[in-house]
Amino acid sequence: MKAIRKIWRYIRNYKKALVIALFSMLVIQSLNLAAPLLVKSILDDQLVAIKEPWYETVEKTEKSVLYNGKYYQQQETKTENVLSVVIVKGKYYAVDDIVIQGNYHVENNTLIVTDTNNLVTKYNLIQLDINEVKDFYSPFINPLIILLVLLVLRYFLQIAFLYIQRTATSHITINIIKDARIDAIKALTLLPMDRFEKEPAGKIANRIINDVNGINSLFNILMNLMVNATLAVVFAYIGMFYLNWQLSLITFVLYPIIYIWLKAFIKRLRRSAEKTNESRSMITAQLNEIINGIGILQVYNYKDETIETFNQVSNEFRREQLKESRLHLGMGWNLIRLLGASITALIILYFGYNSLNIYGFVATAGLIYAYNDYLSRLVEPVMMLFREIGNYQHAVVRSERLFNLIDSVKEDDEYHEIDRYKGKVVFDGVWFSYVENQPVLKGIDLTIDPGQMIGIVGHTGSGKSTLMNLLLRFYDFKDDDMGNIYIDDLPIDTYSKRTYRKHIGIILQDPIMFKGTLADNIRFGAEASDELIEETLRLVGGGKLLDKLEFGIHQKIVRGGSNLSVGEKQIISFARAILHNPSILIMDEATANIDTETEEMIQRALEEVKKNRTTIVIAHRLSTIKKANKIVVLENGLKVEEGTHEALLKNNSVYANIYRSQVKIEEIM
Ligand code: ATP
Ligand code: MG
Repeated sequence: MKAIRKIWRYIRNYKKALVIALFSMLVIQSLNLAAPLLVKSILDDQLVAIKEPWYETVEKTEKSVLYNGKYYQQQETKTENVLSVVIVKGKYYAVDDIVIQGNYHVENNTLIVTDTNNLVTKYNLIQLDINEVKDFYSPFINPLIILLVLLVLRYFLQIAFLYIQRTATSHITINIIKDARIDAIKALTLLPMDRFEKEPAGKIANRIINDVNGINSLFNILMNLMVNATLAVVFAYIGMFYLNWQLSLITFVLYPIIYIWLKAFIKRLRRSAEKTNESRSMITAQLNEIINGIGILQVYNYKDETIETFNQVSNEFRREQLKESRLHLGMGWNLIRLLGASITALIILYFGYNSLNIYGFVATAGLIYAYNDYLSRLVEPVMMLFREIGNYQHAVVRSERLFNLIDSVKEDDEYHEIDRYKGKVVFDGVWFSYVENQPVLKGIDLTIDPGQMIGIVGHTGSGKSTLMNLLLRFYDFKDDDMGNIYIDDLPIDTYSKRTYRKHIGIILQDPIMFKGTLADNIRFGAEASDELIEETLRLVGGGKLLDKLEFGIHQKIVRGGSNLSVGEKQIISFARAILHNPSILIMDEATANIDTETEEMIQRALEEVKKNRTTIVIAHRLSTIKKANKIVVLENGLKVEEGTHEALLKNNSVYANIYRSQVKIEEIM
């Protein structure tokens, strides 16, 4: 039910299409109600009605027939002279009396009728010639044509409305899938990093690709089961009660049986559906890992093991699917076949019994046809229920998973304009651990004034990136973490993540490039003319890169930017950062191992970038941060030193050691 309520969020944007679809369903079901009644009328009132008694009338009318110089007509008011038409073995006879029901037999111009009590009645009869037979049928021709036209018309109308209904429904499904997918991608961009660590990337991708279809099938099943099937049942009952209410009452006995069976069925199916879905996404995840790591797999010859694991996952999936289809066949399909057969048997029994005319009730061919037709329309939704209930479970499981993803970050997605930060950043006694009881940061205190440039140094694994991950809110503080971070004296969780990040920029260790042109990668959502982009790129030292590229800033960049060097990628992200003009910029320097030319290029770029903003640089090459207002040294999650380059050298401690070792290496080189 939760999933249904949530799906409404998406459907309600397409109310017009929904109304059209629902209205069409109503029309289709009313047309369905009409069909058996039309056929019944054709059978009972027209085709076999010739056998009803004909009474003599004085004048000629539309419905009268001339026979032996007298007019006869089928009517309510009885007259003295009556005539019956009987059909025995394809031959037509006239009898001047009302003929009782029973077994007909013709012998020497005599009709012998044996009724159910074995009483024999005899009538004189005269055989009718072909023209006389035609005359007797003539009053029925016009109504028959009208009924047939109606029947065909109903059929065309049904096709037309079915078309409208399908079009409206697919309009809705296509659109809600699109909307849900956008929401899911949005959610993905706001997801805390630890979600990506806990779940394989493939599983998350699977959620967006496959689970979105869950919404689609949920909507379709709801439309089919809740609306169409309900309407079908209601209309079938209207028809059945109209034809024979006693028999219709009996069908209600079946419902408790169906209900109990269905409940047991659902319980097992739900368990099975969850498992199947789980192993399906495991397969996708596994595939994803294989494809992503194909290079390493091939080089290290790890293929056999990989295939073996994939086989296991795949087998698990097969087993679950098999279980599920057995369940469907055993509990779903069988019951419905059984039910369908017993119902047909019941009708035949009932009408057969009644056609013996014990209660003066005659079951006509049309009645039996129509009743059976309605009954099968009643059985159809029940069959659909059993058939679709499994898909329904799958759809619910999938939709719920997708909604969990979307809703988990809904708060973070809120956005409103806030003023550009002045740029004061304060870390106040920050303790943080990725894994419980293994703190990576141990009480960091650090104050950065607006517009300052700060360098952070420390050995690998000392917690530099972690400090920035927290500032960027890639990770949330957990219960056992302590302290807080403030920007302009406001705790960083004051705003939603999206709002908060508006004025923060990053240049990552390995800058990320997306498929598109160079200009796209620099612009990246900001509004900027081509000229401005080129100017900015040259400003940060990208002139050489630009001159090298055939199409300049319109050069295509492949996904991941693998046609660019790391240094070039960093230059591009500098330009990106300047264009977006964040008030706080974080740069995570890639590595110490860069040639002097690139080093100079980056230093010049940094000079430009740091203007008019607070800049935090995680540095491996200390030359980068020599001019920083302040350098912070981390070791094992502790701040061990803080001060300017000169002050720290004078201090002659950790920083001085790192510096000396770098200078020595450079001298050797
Ligand atoms: P480097 O100079 O190599 O980039 P760093 O100073 O940036 O190192 P961090 O990335 O902050 O170091 O890592 C600090 C510690 O936290 C390391 O011991 C690392 O193993 C651990 N760590 C980092 N990321 C995670 C994570 N997602 N889950 C668990 N532990 C992590
Ligand atoms: Mg790092």
